[in-house]
Amino acid sequence: MPTEEHLVDVAVIGGGQAGLAAGYFLRRAGADFVILDDHDRPGGSWPEYWDSLRLFSPAAHSMLPGWWMPEEEGQEYPSAAHVAWYLAEYERRYGLPVRRRARVRRVERAEDRLRLVTGGDRWLARRVISATGTWDAPYVPDLPGRDVFVGEQLHTVDYRGPDRFAGQRVVVVGGGNSAAQILAELSTVARTTWVTTRPPRFLPDDVDGRALFAIATRAQRSEAAGVGDLGDIVVVPGVREARERGDLKAQPMFDHLTRTGVAWSDGTTAECDAVLWCTGFRPVLDHLSDSGLVDDRGRVAVEGTRAVAEPRLHLVGYGDWTGPASATLIGAARTAKAAVAQITRDLEPEPRQGTDRGSGR
Ligand SMILES: Cc1cc2nc3c(=O)[nH]c(=O)nc-3n(C[C@H](O)[C@H](O)[C@H](O)COP(=O)(O)OP(=O)(O)OC[C@H]3O[C@@H](n4cnc5c(N)ncnc54)[C@H](O)[C@@H]3O)c2cc1C
Repeated sequence: MPTEEHLVDVAVIGGGQAGLAAGYFLRRAGADFVILDDHDRPGGSWPEYWDSLRLFSPAAHSMLPGWWMPEEEGQEYPSAAHVAWYLAEYERRYGLPVRRRARVRRVERAEDRLRLVTGGDRWLARRVISATGTWDAPYVPDLPGRDVFVGEQLHTVDYRGPDRFAGQRVVVVGGGNSAAQILAELSTVARTTWVTTRPPRFLPDDVDGRALFAIATRAQRSEAAGVGDLGDIVVVPGVREARERGDLKAQPMFDHLTRTGVAWSDGTTAECDAVLWCTGFRPVLDHLSDSGLVDDRGRVAVEGTRAVAEPRLHLVGYGDWTGPASATLIGAARTAKAAVAQITRDLEPEPRQGTDRGSGR
């Protein structure tokens, strides 16, 4: 098929929650826009999360702008499948123009526009919102011995459930919510060792992800955080049960891997069959790798959501550096709204000078 070149005012790259939240505000502003997503189904990365994953906030506190997430029957904390369903419905409800199987390979400067190059069509946009998330860029720290360990090494992105680890010795690395939730269920079937770079911090049992957004909001206003921090572990039911069983005791980070396990600097070792790295993600910005905008940490310098060195480009949803709590369901709206407000201001036609004044029209 011949490649077409489309003109559009705004192109959003990524059709996950961040891209959809931007789409909601673009639709409301009456903008001419498209959302390009590389998957052949809706939901961003949520359909790829493991089955037993539970949100760290109830449905009513995990909403995108405009439409509350309905509750999932029998679940206080909704599953990843429920979120994927919600995002698909959300997209349909607001008639958001998502083009599927459209991977943006490059973003190029083209006079007063930016050109988005996919494997097929090209898009010439006056403004671009990058909302490609972090799931496709898993991060594993570069520790000595990773290449000599003969067991299995996996990352959160590879985890589908505990069953295949039954009877194994598994070292889980990482102090965040993913690590805690995975460890909680793994420890029911496997012999687990939990390793974190700093002692894990749990939110009080009666505080869940609802508080995280409030914390983020307060942090923005430069007040003391108080109850916790955005990285703190929410004690969802599975985590509480694991703690009661005594399975949530963390050890300090090991120093290196050996052929058959991990070793600490004091000479202590632990043999294991698998190491599960729940060590986070980097922004997915391959499409900007030729732009000169991406720094050593894999980020783009931004002011608000706008790239400092390329004002036609906005970034939303990647983490606190693109807005407090912007990488959460409930936090996506705030930064998407700000980005769209700035874009619509920028694209407004200049008021006409002189002759029209006083014409009464
Ligand atoms: C394990 C886990 C648990 C989480 N739990 C919660 C929770 O309980 N509550 C909460 O609020 N948040 C939670 N989060 C955080 C956050 O809500 C999710 O990570 C969410 O998926 C981020 O949405 P996103 O739209 O930014 O990215 P994604 O969902 O990853 O969507 C980005 C989309 O862009 C596409 N894409 C990427 N590159 C390109 C390209 N070049 N061209 C076209 N398309 C592209 C991707 O394929 C994807 O479809 C969790 C995250 C993880 C990893």
